[in-house]
Amino acid sequence: MEQRLEIRQRFTLAHEIIHTLFFNSLSSPPTPLKETPPLRVLEFMSQLGARILLVPGHLLRKSIGDRFINADSILQLSKEFQVSAEVMVRRIDKLERLRRLQLAVVVAESESENADAKIRAVCYHPTLRPILARPKLFTNLRAWCGDYLDDKFWTEASWERSVRKDAETIRLRKVVLSNERHTFLLEIEHVSSHAVVSR
Ligand SMILES: [Zn+2]
Repeated sequence: MEQRLEIRQRFTLAHEIIHTLFFNSLSSPPTPLKETPPLRVLEFMSQLGARILLVPGHLLRKSIGDRFINADSILQLSKEFQVSAEVMVRRIDKLERLRRLQLAVVVAESESENADAKIRAVCYHPTLRPILARPKLFTNLRAWCGDYLDDKFWTEASWERSVRKDAETIRLRKVVLSNERHTFLLEIEHVSSHAVVSR
């Protein structure tokens, strides 16, 4: 719990630091800059800026090094940078290139009442597109990839499954966060396909 609060506090502080960039700090008290964007845009920019401040691109690239991106390395990286998995997944998605093709990792938050989950972050490689389109944030997981999930998926803390669809094999893996049990990572990888598909 302590750890989680600290991570949340770091994010809140980073968010507030970005807010100060929209103030003239030479005046006392600081006054909003004339060209301050509307509140909604300002909040969006502060969220984005906070993520960049906590996970600068060059440091993230350096940290990733030769590591493959998957649920495990994402959890390691979020520990190293002291950010939530959600922040880390969003930052990785912004890098020009994931080191692993045909892979998506989503962070989703369970909605236990209706066996569904809300997608909170995604890193997605476009080569996965023939299998699954990129999901929209804050939509339901079941609507996106429910066809590949079974009943156990919604109840188990760790879950893995390979699904064959036509000539394709898709591997799915769920990892529940240890410090936030309603939140989990879902890794989806297109592991094989025949070079020539005859229909
Ligand atoms: Zn704010």
